[in-house]
Amino acid sequence: MSAGAARRSACATLVQSPQMEPAPITVQYCSECGQPWPQEELARFGDRLICVNCKIAYAQKLREGVASAATFTYAGFWIRFVAALLDWVILFVAGMVVQLPFARMLQSRSIEVELMALGAVYLIDMAIGATYEGLFVSRYGATPGKMALDLKVVRPDGGPISLGRAVGRYFAKIVSGIVLAIGYIMAGFDSQKRALHDMMCDTRVIKVPSRDRQGAE
Ligand SMILES: [Zn+2]
Repeated sequence: MSAGAARRSACATLVQSPQMEPAPITVQYCSECGQPWPQEELARFGDRLICVNCKIAYAQKLREGVASAATFTYAGFWIRFVAALLDWVILFVAGMVVQLPFARMLQSRSIEVELMALGAVYLIDMAIGATYEGLFVSRYGATPGKMALDLKVVRPDGGPISLGRAVGRYFAKIVSGIVLAIGYIMAGFDSQKRALHDMMCDTRVIKVPSRDRQGAE
């Protein structure tokens, strides 16, 4: 056997020895496209992992400030729909109570009296809705319906909502609801899941991260 062949076979033995086998590849997922990648091929941006395909577009987003809130999980249309339904039930019950003192007026034979009672009930309902939304959102970041589903209303940077903004958002929701609730449906199509009232008030609805939930106890 020549010296060269000996070296080659030693080499081959070395390559085949178990110590030289590559470590098992850890697969992780790109935060942008969701594709699985070997861990070492993903770049870390904060707590997000970005693959080579998404890197340029993501860096562009960071430069434009769009991804400054990238750690949020925005809440989509359906979970918000369920939260709104819960709030609606609560406010519906409150509305029933409000109607009680007006019950006789609402059944009046005089159309004027009936309209006045309807108007009063409508205004009181609206005041209750604005107070409910304003106080809960400014104080706790969420209405009871949103709290039940671990959703939170925040500013684009994750900051809290002032009372004025929360009340303004209540009225902006009325605008969202005007034409076939299209302002609400918009949340399903926006990259940050903004409904029309979120755009008007510069707010976002996010899912509360589990670590915040534990800390809040
Ligand atoms: Zn990707």
